[in-house]
Amino acid sequence: MDARAVIVASANGREALAEGMAVLRRGGTALDAVEACARIVEADPRDESVGLGGLPNLLGVVELDASIMDGTTLRAGAVGALQGFLHPITVARAVMDRLPHVLLVGAGAARFARESGAEPAELLTDAARRYWEDRLRALGESASDIGSRGELATLVRPVREHGTVNFIARDAKGGLASAVTTSGWALKYPGRLGDSPVIGAGNYADARAGAATCTGFGESALRCGTARIAVDRMARGISPRAAARSAVADASAIALKPFHVLALGADGAHAAASNVAGRSYAVIEDGMAEAVLVPRDHLHTAGPDGSPLSGELWDRT
Ligand code: ASP
Repeated sequence: MDARAVIVASANGREALAEGMAVLRRGGTALDAVEACARIVEADPRDESVGLGGLPNLLGVVELDASIMDGTTLRAGAVGALQGFLHPITVARAVMDRLPHVLLVGAGAARFARESGAEPAELLTDAARRYWEDRLRALGESASDIGSRGELATLVRPVREHGTVNFIARDAKGGLASAVTTSGWALKYPGRLGDSPVIGAGNYADARAGAATCTGFGESALRCGTARIAVDRMARGISPRAAARSAVADASAIALKPFHVLALGADGAHAAASNVAGRSYAVIEDGMAEAVLVPRDHLHTAGPDGSPLSGELWDRT
């Protein structure tokens, strides 16, 4: 099958797309391309929602979530609450390639990362540490005492600093793959998993139908099974645009929090939707020297009192 190569990403993945397309041009698969793209953002300390420089949990520890899915075979791998490794996406891929499992978390994920030769790293940058200390101070807590505090649950707050990076690629053979990687909710309860490492919630790919990935309030994607539902809708002939829009509408109906869905159809058509105005996603197609940003469809959502959803409150994906 001769297909049009294309990679789409959340806007914060834009700079990585040229390298992903280079991987495809060299004959790499869609899976290789999304992993290569995700690694670039994971190693970039400027993105405080992913990998190195990601914002930590309440205890000041960076815990990373990532997943990767091969839409051709429906094989998938994921890690959750992984500490101390630079490239959770590559550990997720190793879970897929080397284990009869899909998802490893916490200490087991770290053990497997070591076994598979993953690169260890101190992920907490000075900027992220300062953010953590300031946030704790605003909550009336101190970084030096937080470890001995008996109860953390009352300190969990929705925060503005948040994000994730999504990549979906289609290679020239029609192969489809998706990758999602994040440090999750800043100052989350330790051990909290978002949607990103959960196949079917934040990430799903099936080359027969399409792929979908999520950013934003992960608890909504977990509760709705968002990515899987969006792909199922594409399998029934619904366009990527309508699938992304309806997935955002479903999530917005249960929680009025910023939420965004990216979708790529089996034929290479793509779209993205958000319940926050003015958002975009990134696209590169074969023949383009660099990626461009394209507006996401905006779904107008409102609270029970009619007040519009504000992107101010929660994230910047
Ligand atoms: N979905 C991610 C999570 O819930 C965060 C985000 O994309 O803003 O961990």
